[in-house]
Amino acid sequence: MSRRHATTGAGMARRAMGLPRPAQGLLVAALLGLCWAVVSLAGGPDGVWVHLFAIPIVLAAVPFGIPGSLAAAVAATVLAGPATLVGGGEAPAQWLARGAVLGLVALAAGGARLVMETHHAHTVSERLRSGLAEITVSGRTIPNGDPTPPIKRDDAAVVDEILRRQRFRPVFQPIYGLQDGELVAVEALTRFDDEPETAPNVWFTRAEAVGRGVELEVAAIDAALERSRMLPPDVTVSLNCSPATIADVRLTEVLDRHLARAVYVEVTEHAIVEDYRELATAIAMLRRRGVQVAVDDAGAGFSSFRHLVRLEPEIIKLDRSVTESLRTDPVRRALASSFIDFARRTGSRLVAEGIEQPGDLSTWQSLGAHAAQGFLLGRPGPLAASELDGRARRHPLICSEAS
Ligand code: C2E
Ligand code: CA
Ligand code: CA
Repeated sequence: MSRRHATTGAGMARRAMGLPRPAQGLLVAALLGLCWAVVSLAGGPDGVWVHLFAIPIVLAAVPFGIPGSLAAAVAATVLAGPATLVGGGEAPAQWLARGAVLGLVALAAGGARLVMETHHAHTVSERLRSGLAEITVSGRTIPNGDPTPPIKRDDAAVVDEILRRQRFRPVFQPIYGLQDGELVAVEALTRFDDEPETAPNVWFTRAEAVGRGVELEVAAIDAALERSRMLPPDVTVSLNCSPATIADVRLTEVLDRHLARAVYVEVTEHAIVEDYRELATAIAMLRRRGVQVAVDDAGAGFSSFRHLVRLEPEIIKLDRSVTESLRTDPVRRALASSFIDFARRTGSRLVAEGIEQPGDLSTWQSLGAHAAQGFLLGRPGPLAASELDGRARRHPLICSEAS
């Protein structure tokens, strides 16, 4: 057992007896003395009173474990045997036999404590593991390893300022089809006007923590769709949405203002979905409006398979942790093939995110992924000429890879 767990167990034991350890030691010693006095006054160890010695032995196990209860058993054996005031004529075999019984009591008590402590340690480590695996800030779950922003006291005021003054702007990252290199969509992302620049997901998490997450997401979507009016109509805009936003009427109001634009919503893979039926109903309503659904960051964490099964997305966006280093890593290649197979069988389209290396691009292309996105093909930014040209524009890298 680790030192940490032992400390935790000892702490639990101290709380159980409500006293510090030295005081518990003194209490056990005092009880042993009391038992000795009672047994002596009652006429010796032959009567029922000798069983009282079980009490300090069991109590000693609580803070001190098996060593403590065994020490108490040895003391009890001596006090009830050679050290007793009356009835001292016992043969050594007699008091040694009693000592053996008291030793068994000590082992049982110490063993029980050990079992409880191990169970407690197991529960604590399970909680710790799940706590580390997902850190939830009022419904939004951040995967282990992501920078979790400390929630500051003035966050509510800052988020309010961001929303009131619209201190953010949309940027767009292109997504190219791997069959022909055509621009198929752009992902709308958000940049905040702050110094030094904070990652956008941090702002969305902060807004969520102060109860304004949906408001900020909807405002960002509105700004992105407004800017997308410049795009040719055949380019789809991909919007990041938490499940809470998907189920919110404010999203449909914004989408209604931009009916001409083809959109799909990216449900982040990390989001905890409390009620899939509610989300499924909201998604069904969006689908009736022609909105398609993507599972974002698939493969990055825990909820991905459940999302994939329950949301039946039209698009699966594979996280960079899965898409990179395909050429050199056979395990990732095997995983990639499984995703391709899954997408084919379920009729969904697979988008490989975070493509930085030409080798990964060509591998995804040969595996049969539908589309790719990444710094190699285009960084997020204001709408560029390549996007404004619409699907007529083909990415030279993909065309040359395909040919
Ligand atoms: P995401 O939705 O997974 O967005 C993709 C992120 O990966 C973007 O980071 C993008 O710049 C980055 N990226 C794209 N290609 C590459 C690549 O080849 N290599 C690397 N290393 N990174 C690449 P960004 O814009 O910083 O956004 C981070 C996250 O913040 C997004 O992850 C999304 O969860 C959140 N976010 C950003 N904008 C919005 C928004 O408007 N609404 C919502 N709800 N979330 C947003
Ligand atoms: Ca996304
Ligand atoms: Ca993503």
